[in-house]
Amino acid sequence: METQTNNVLIVDEDLCQKLVSRQQAFDAVKGVFAAMARGGARNFPVIREALGYADAVYGFKSGFDREGGVLGVKSGGYWPGNAALGLTNHQSTVCLFDPDTGRLSALVGGNYLTAVRTAASSAVSIAQLARKDAKVLGMVGAGHQSTFQLRAAAEQRAFEKVVAWNPHPEMLPKLAEVAKEIGLEFEAVSQQELGAQADVIITITSAFEPLLLRSWVKPGTHLACMGTDTKGKMEVDPDLVANADVFTDEVAQSVSIGEAQHAVDRGTLNPGAITPIGDVINGDHPGRTSDEQITLFDGTGVGLQDLAVASVAARLAHESGLAPSFSL
Ligand code: NAD
Repeated sequence: METQTNNVLIVDEDLCQKLVSRQQAFDAVKGVFAAMARGGARNFPVIREALGYADAVYGFKSGFDREGGVLGVKSGGYWPGNAALGLTNHQSTVCLFDPDTGRLSALVGGNYLTAVRTAASSAVSIAQLARKDAKVLGMVGAGHQSTFQLRAAAEQRAFEKVVAWNPHPEMLPKLAEVAKEIGLEFEAVSQQELGAQADVIITITSAFEPLLLRSWVKPGTHLACMGTDTKGKMEVDPDLVANADVFTDEVAQSVSIGEAQHAVDRGTLNPGAITPIGDVINGDHPGRTSDEQITLFDGTGVGLQDLAVASVAARLAHESGLAPSFSL
Protein backbone atom coordinates (compact mmCIF):
# COMPACT_ATOMS: atom_id res chain seq x y z
CA MET A 1 0.00 0.00 0.00
CA GLU A 2 1.23 3.50 -0.89
CA THR A 3 2.06 5.52 2.21
CA GLN A 4 3.97 8.50 0.81
CA THR A 5 2.11 11.54 -0.44
CA ASN A 6 3.53 13.52 -3.34
CA ASN A 7 3.50 17.23 -3.99
CA VAL A 8 1.57 18.33 -7.06
CA LEU A 9 2.43 21.77 -8.43
CA ILE A 10 -0.38 24.01 -9.68
CA VAL A 11 0.61 26.39 -12.45
CA ASP A 12 -2.32 28.59 -13.37
CA GLU A 13 -2.94 30.54 -16.59
CA ASP A 14 -1.54 33.82 -15.23
CA LEU A 15 1.64 32.18 -14.04
CA CYS A 16 2.13 30.40 -17.39
CA GLN A 17 1.91 33.78 -19.13
CA LYS A 18 4.38 35.33 -16.70
CA LEU A 19 6.88 32.50 -16.88
CA VAL A 20 6.92 31.08 -20.42
CA SER A 21 8.30 33.46 -23.03
CA ARG A 22 8.01 33.11 -26.80
CA GLN A 23 11.70 32.19 -26.99
CA GLN A 24 11.33 29.48 -24.36
CA ALA A 25 8.32 28.06 -26.20
CA PHE A 26 10.24 28.19 -29.48
CA ASP A 27 13.21 26.32 -27.99
CA ALA A 28 10.97 23.71 -26.31
CA VAL A 29 8.94 23.03 -29.46
CA LYS A 30 12.03 22.92 -31.69
CA GLY A 31 13.67 20.51 -29.25
CA VAL A 32 10.72 18.13 -29.11
CA PHE A 33 10.27 18.14 -32.92
CA ALA A 34 13.93 17.12 -33.16
CA ALA A 35 13.45 14.40 -30.53
CA MET A 36 10.35 13.06 -32.34
CA ALA A 37 12.31 12.74 -35.58
CA ARG A 38 15.12 10.88 -33.78
CA GLY A 39 12.59 8.49 -32.23
CA GLY A 40 13.33 9.79 -28.73
CA ALA A 41 9.78 11.09 -28.18
CA ARG A 42 6.42 9.85 -29.39
CA ASN A 43 2.83 10.96 -29.42
CA PHE A 44 0.07 8.58 -28.46
CA PRO A 45 -3.16 8.26 -30.47
CA VAL A 46 -5.41 11.28 -30.07
CA ILE A 47 -8.90 10.91 -28.62
CA ARG A 48 -11.40 13.53 -29.78
CA GLU A 49 -15.12 13.06 -29.24
CA ALA A 50 -18.27 15.12 -29.66
CA LEU A 51 -19.88 14.99 -26.22
CA GLY A 52 -23.44 15.37 -27.42
CA TYR A 53 -23.70 17.93 -24.61
CA ALA A 54 -23.18 21.72 -24.69
CA ASP A 55 -22.14 21.29 -28.37
CA ALA A 56 -18.72 20.46 -26.97
CA VAL A 57 -15.83 18.52 -28.48
CA TYR A 58 -13.57 16.99 -25.86
CA GLY A 59 -10.39 14.97 -26.06
CA PHE A 60 -6.87 14.02 -24.97
CA LYS A 61 -3.46 14.50 -26.52
CA SER A 62 -0.66 12.69 -24.80
CA GLY A 63 2.85 11.40 -25.32
CA PHE A 64 6.20 10.57 -23.81
CA ASP A 65 9.44 12.42 -24.39
CA ARG A 66 12.00 9.91 -23.19
CA GLU A 67 14.91 12.25 -23.94
CA GLY A 68 13.40 15.11 -21.96
CA GLY A 69 11.84 12.92 -19.25
CA VAL A 70 8.39 14.38 -19.90
CA LEU A 71 5.20 12.32 -19.64
CA GLY A 72 1.69 13.71 -19.61
CA VAL A 73 -1.62 14.50 -21.21
CA LYS A 74 -3.42 17.62 -22.40
CA SER A 75 -7.13 17.30 -21.84
CA GLY A 76 -9.68 19.73 -23.14
CA GLY A 77 -11.58 20.83 -26.18
CA TYR A 78 -13.99 23.35 -27.59
CA TRP A 79 -17.13 24.71 -25.89
CA PRO A 80 -18.82 27.10 -28.34
CA GLY A 81 -21.12 28.57 -25.66
CA ASN A 82 -18.19 29.79 -23.55
CA ALA A 83 -17.79 33.17 -25.28
CA ALA A 84 -21.27 34.17 -24.10
CA LEU A 85 -20.10 33.40 -20.54
CA GLY A 86 -16.98 35.56 -20.97
CA LEU A 87 -14.75 32.48 -21.27
CA THR A 88 -12.43 31.26 -24.03
CA ASN A 89 -14.12 28.65 -26.23
CA HIS A 90 -10.99 26.46 -26.31
CA GLN A 91 -10.26 25.13 -22.81
CA SER A 92 -7.46 22.80 -21.82
CA THR A 93 -5.35 21.63 -18.89
CA VAL A 94 -2.08 19.69 -18.91
CA CYS A 95 -1.32 16.94 -16.37
CA LEU A 96 2.36 16.04 -16.02
CA PHE A 97 3.46 12.75 -14.48
CA ASP A 98 6.78 11.55 -13.11
CA PRO A 99 7.92 9.09 -15.83
CA ASP A 100 9.76 6.99 -13.24
CA THR A 101 6.78 6.40 -10.96
CA GLY A 102 3.65 7.51 -12.83
CA ARG A 103 2.74 9.89 -10.03
CA LEU A 104 1.07 13.19 -10.89
CA SER A 105 3.63 16.01 -10.62
CA ALA A 106 1.89 19.12 -11.97
CA LEU A 107 -1.40 20.57 -13.18
CA VAL A 108 -0.76 23.30 -15.72
CA GLY A 109 -3.24 25.66 -17.39
CA GLY A 110 -3.24 24.90 -21.11
CA ASN A 111 -4.93 27.87 -22.80
CA TYR A 112 -2.06 30.36 -23.09
CA LEU A 113 0.38 27.50 -23.64
CA THR A 114 -1.66 26.17 -26.58
CA ALA A 115 -1.45 29.55 -28.31
CA VAL A 116 2.23 30.06 -27.61
CA ARG A 117 3.22 26.52 -28.63
CA THR A 118 1.18 26.73 -31.86
CA ALA A 119 2.86 30.02 -32.71
CA ALA A 120 6.23 28.47 -31.87
CA SER A 121 5.52 25.64 -34.28
CA SER A 122 4.99 27.87 -37.32
CA ALA A 123 7.89 30.07 -36.17
CA VAL A 124 10.19 27.03 -36.13
CA SER A 125 9.07 26.22 -39.68
CA ILE A 126 9.76 29.80 -40.82
CA ALA A 127 13.19 29.73 -39.17
CA GLN A 128 14.01 26.45 -40.93
CA LEU A 129 12.33 26.87 -44.32
CA ALA A 130 11.55 30.46 -45.32
CA ARG A 131 13.84 32.36 -47.65
CA LYS A 132 16.39 34.35 -45.67
CA ASP A 133 15.44 37.52 -47.56
CA ALA A 134 11.70 37.28 -46.76
CA LYS A 135 10.27 40.78 -46.24
CA VAL A 136 6.47 40.47 -46.39
CA LEU A 137 4.45 38.31 -44.00
CA GLY A 138 0.94 37.28 -45.09
CA MET A 139 -1.65 36.49 -42.44
CA VAL A 140 -4.82 34.58 -43.34
CA GLY A 141 -6.91 34.53 -40.17
CA ALA A 142 -7.51 37.04 -37.41
CA GLY A 143 -8.86 35.01 -34.47
CA HIS A 144 -7.45 34.26 -31.03
CA GLN A 145 -4.34 32.45 -32.31
CA SER A 146 -3.44 34.99 -34.99
CA THR A 147 -1.73 37.63 -32.86
CA PHE A 148 0.42 34.97 -31.18
CA GLN A 149 1.32 33.71 -34.66
CA LEU A 150 2.21 37.19 -35.87
CA ARG A 151 4.43 38.01 -32.90
CA ALA A 152 6.38 34.73 -33.11
CA ALA A 153 6.76 34.84 -36.91
CA ALA A 154 7.96 38.44 -36.85
CA GLU A 155 10.99 37.35 -34.82
CA GLN A 156 12.21 34.88 -37.47
CA ARG A 157 13.03 37.17 -40.41
CA ALA A 158 13.62 40.89 -41.03
CA PHE A 159 10.00 41.44 -42.09
CA GLU A 160 9.02 44.97 -43.10
CA LYS A 161 5.33 44.55 -43.76
CA VAL A 162 2.27 42.45 -42.90
CA VAL A 163 -0.49 41.85 -45.46
CA ALA A 164 -3.63 40.27 -44.08
CA TRP A 165 -6.96 38.86 -45.14
CA ASN A 166 -9.72 37.31 -43.03
CA PRO A 167 -13.17 35.98 -43.98
CA HIS A 168 -14.50 38.27 -41.24
CA PRO A 169 -12.75 41.57 -42.02
CA GLU A 170 -14.05 43.23 -38.86
CA MET A 171 -11.53 41.10 -36.93
CA LEU A 172 -8.49 42.55 -38.74
CA PRO A 173 -7.91 45.70 -36.64
CA LYS A 174 -6.62 43.54 -33.77
CA LEU A 175 -3.88 42.18 -36.03
CA ALA A 176 -3.15 45.66 -37.36
CA GLU A 177 -2.62 46.89 -33.80
CA VAL A 178 -0.09 44.14 -33.06
CA ALA A 179 1.74 44.79 -36.36
CA LYS A 180 1.97 48.47 -35.45
CA GLU A 181 3.16 47.66 -31.95
CA ILE A 182 6.05 45.58 -33.31
CA GLY A 183 6.95 48.21 -35.91
CA LEU A 184 5.61 46.58 -39.09
CA GLU A 185 3.61 48.26 -41.82
CA PHE A 186 0.12 46.70 -42.14
CA GLU A 187 -2.17 46.41 -45.14
CA ALA A 188 -5.53 44.63 -45.39
CA VAL A 189 -5.62 43.08 -48.86
CA SER A 190 -7.56 40.65 -51.05
CA GLN A 191 -6.57 36.97 -51.06
CA GLN A 192 -4.97 37.34 -54.52
CA GLU A 193 -3.00 40.40 -53.43
CA LEU A 194 -1.84 38.59 -50.30
CA GLY A 195 -0.44 35.75 -52.41
CA ALA A 196 1.21 38.21 -54.79
CA GLN A 197 2.97 40.17 -52.04
CA ALA A 198 3.77 37.67 -49.28
CA ASP A 199 7.08 35.82 -48.96
CA VAL A 200 5.79 33.89 -45.95
CA ILE A 201 2.11 33.06 -45.35
CA ILE A 202 0.49 31.80 -42.16
CA THR A 203 -3.03 30.40 -42.37
CA ILE A 204 -4.84 30.10 -39.02
CA THR A 205 -8.59 29.85 -39.58
CA SER A 206 -11.38 27.32 -39.06
CA ALA A 207 -11.99 27.00 -42.81
CA PHE A 208 -13.46 23.98 -44.60
CA GLU A 209 -12.66 25.22 -48.10
CA PRO A 210 -9.59 26.68 -49.78
CA LEU A 211 -8.88 30.31 -48.98
CA LEU A 212 -5.74 30.46 -51.17
CA LEU A 213 -5.44 29.04 -54.67
CA ARG A 214 -2.26 27.64 -56.12
CA SER A 215 -2.05 30.26 -58.87
CA TRP A 216 -2.14 33.13 -56.32
CA VAL A 217 1.00 32.08 -54.44
CA LYS A 218 4.35 33.16 -55.88
CA PRO A 219 7.44 30.92 -56.27
CA GLY A 220 9.72 30.89 -53.23
CA THR A 221 6.89 31.36 -50.72
CA HIS A 222 6.88 29.51 -47.42
CA LEU A 223 3.44 28.66 -46.07
CA ALA A 224 2.68 27.58 -42.51
CA CYS A 225 -0.82 26.07 -42.57
CA MET A 226 -1.84 25.98 -38.92
CA GLY A 227 -5.64 25.97 -38.80
CA THR A 228 -6.42 22.49 -40.15
CA ASP A 229 -6.37 20.09 -37.21
CA THR A 230 -9.48 17.99 -37.88
CA LYS A 231 -10.77 15.75 -40.65
CA GLY A 232 -12.60 17.83 -43.26
CA LYS A 233 -10.99 21.19 -42.50
CA MET A 234 -9.09 22.85 -45.36
CA GLU A 235 -7.33 26.22 -45.71
CA VAL A 236 -5.50 26.06 -49.03
CA ASP A 237 -5.99 24.57 -52.48
CA PRO A 238 -5.03 20.84 -52.42
CA ASP A 239 -3.19 21.52 -55.71
CA LEU A 240 -0.99 23.99 -53.89
CA VAL A 241 -0.18 21.33 -51.28
CA ALA A 242 0.47 18.69 -53.97
CA ASN A 243 2.92 21.00 -55.75
CA ALA A 244 4.79 22.24 -52.68
CA ASP A 245 7.58 20.61 -50.69
CA VAL A 246 5.58 19.54 -47.65
CA PHE A 247 6.92 19.41 -44.09
CA THR A 248 4.99 18.67 -40.92
CA ASP A 249 5.18 18.14 -37.18
CA GLU A 250 3.97 14.53 -37.50
CA VAL A 251 3.27 12.71 -40.76
CA ALA A 252 0.51 10.47 -39.31
CA GLN A 253 -1.51 13.56 -38.30
CA SER A 254 -0.68 15.49 -41.47
CA VAL A 255 -2.23 12.83 -43.71
CA SER A 256 -5.28 12.20 -41.50
CA ILE A 257 -6.29 15.52 -39.90
CA GLY A 258 -3.85 18.06 -41.35
CA GLU A 259 -3.81 20.22 -44.45
CA ALA A 260 -2.22 17.38 -46.46
CA GLN A 261 -5.24 15.07 -45.93
CA HIS A 262 -7.01 16.32 -49.08
CA ALA A 263 -4.08 16.00 -51.49
CA VAL A 264 -3.31 12.57 -50.03
CA ASP A 265 -6.97 11.51 -50.38
CA ARG A 266 -6.96 12.63 -54.02
CA GLY A 267 -3.78 10.68 -54.69
CA THR A 268 -1.87 13.83 -55.73
CA LEU A 269 0.50 13.74 -52.75
CA ASN A 270 2.39 10.67 -51.61
CA PRO A 271 2.58 10.48 -47.79
CA GLY A 272 6.17 9.31 -48.23
CA ALA A 273 7.02 12.72 -49.70
CA ILE A 274 6.07 14.55 -46.47
CA THR A 275 9.07 15.37 -44.29
CA PRO A 276 9.02 15.70 -40.50
CA ILE A 277 10.37 19.17 -39.67
CA GLY A 278 12.54 17.45 -37.05
CA ASP A 279 14.58 15.92 -39.87
CA VAL A 280 15.45 19.42 -41.07
CA ILE A 281 16.28 20.56 -37.52
CA ASN A 282 18.50 17.50 -37.05
CA GLY A 283 20.32 18.14 -40.35
CA ASP A 284 18.98 14.90 -41.87
CA HIS A 285 17.04 16.75 -44.60
CA PRO A 286 18.27 19.85 -46.44
CA GLY A 287 14.90 21.70 -46.16
CA ARG A 288 14.71 24.51 -48.72
CA THR A 289 17.21 23.98 -51.53
CA SER A 290 16.21 26.77 -53.95
CA ASP A 291 14.83 30.30 -53.86
CA GLU A 292 12.04 29.26 -56.22
CA GLN A 293 10.50 26.27 -54.46
CA ILE A 294 7.32 26.61 -52.42
CA THR A 295 7.68 25.06 -48.97
CA LEU A 296 4.59 24.25 -46.91
CA PHE A 297 4.54 23.36 -43.23
CA ASP A 298 1.45 21.41 -42.16
CA GLY A 299 1.25 22.26 -38.45
CA THR A 300 -1.31 19.85 -37.05
CA GLY A 301 -0.51 20.31 -33.35
CA VAL A 302 0.84 17.36 -31.36
CA GLY A 303 0.53 16.54 -27.67
CA LEU A 304 4.30 16.59 -27.20
CA GLN A 305 4.33 20.32 -28.01
CA ASP A 306 1.91 20.89 -25.14
CA LEU A 307 3.90 18.73 -22.78
CA ALA A 308 7.16 20.45 -23.79
CA VAL A 309 5.90 23.94 -22.92
CA ALA A 310 4.00 22.73 -19.85
CA SER A 311 7.16 21.14 -18.48
CA VAL A 312 9.00 24.46 -18.98
CA ALA A 313 6.19 26.19 -17.07
CA ALA A 314 6.34 23.61 -14.26
CA ARG A 315 10.14 23.82 -13.98
CA LEU A 316 10.14 27.63 -13.88
CA ALA A 317 7.24 27.65 -11.42
CA HIS A 318 9.11 25.26 -9.15
CA GLU A 319 12.36 27.26 -9.39
CA SER A 320 10.63 30.58 -8.73
CA GLY A 321 8.59 29.26 -5.81
CA LEU A 322 5.59 31.14 -7.23
CA ALA A 323 3.25 28.18 -7.70
CA PRO A 324 1.22 26.60 -4.91
CA SER A 325 1.24 22.84 -4.50
CA PHE A 326 -0.95 20.29 -2.82
CA SER A 327 -0.36 16.81 -1.46
CA LEU A 328 -1.95 13.84 -3.10
P1 NAD B 1 -11.00 31.73 -33.42
O1 NAD B 1 -12.36 31.17 -33.25
O2 NAD B 1 -10.52 32.74 -32.44
O3 NAD B 1 -10.82 32.35 -34.90
C1 NAD B 1 -11.30 31.65 -36.02
C2 NAD B 1 -10.68 32.17 -37.30
O4 NAD B 1 -11.21 31.42 -38.40
C3 NAD B 1 -11.01 33.61 -37.60
O5 NAD B 1 -9.99 34.13 -38.42
C4 NAD B 1 -12.33 33.48 -38.36
O6 NAD B 1 -12.58 34.61 -39.17
C5 NAD B 1 -12.06 32.25 -39.19
N1 NAD B 1 -13.25 31.48 -39.52
C6 NAD B 1 -14.28 31.14 -38.70
N2 NAD B 1 -15.17 30.38 -39.35
C7 NAD B 1 -14.70 30.22 -40.61
C8 NAD B 1 -15.15 29.53 -41.76
N3 NAD B 1 -16.29 28.84 -41.76
N4 NAD B 1 -14.39 29.59 -42.88
C9 NAD B 1 -13.23 30.26 -42.89
N5 NAD B 1 -12.73 30.92 -41.83
C10 NAD B 1 -13.46 30.90 -40.70
O7 NAD B 1 -10.03 30.47 -33.45
P2 NAD B 1 -8.46 30.38 -33.12
O8 NAD B 1 -8.28 30.00 -31.71
O9 NAD B 1 -7.75 31.58 -33.66
O10 NAD B 1 -8.07 29.10 -33.99
C11 NAD B 1 -8.03 29.16 -35.40
C12 NAD B 1 -7.89 27.75 -35.96
O11 NAD B 1 -6.66 27.18 -35.53
C13 NAD B 1 -8.98 26.78 -35.49
O12 NAD B 1 -9.38 26.02 -36.61
C14 NAD B 1 -8.27 25.90 -34.48
O13 NAD B 1 -8.85 24.61 -34.40
C15 NAD B 1 -6.88 25.86 -35.06
N6 NAD B 1 -5.82 25.56 -34.09
C16 NAD B 1 -4.79 24.78 -34.52
C17 NAD B 1 -3.75 24.46 -33.66
C18 NAD B 1 -2.60 23.62 -34.14
O14 NAD B 1 -1.77 23.21 -33.34
N7 NAD B 1 -2.46 23.38 -35.42
C19 NAD B 1 -3.76 24.96 -32.35
C20 NAD B 1 -4.80 25.80 -31.95
C21 NAD B 1 -5.82 26.10 -32.85
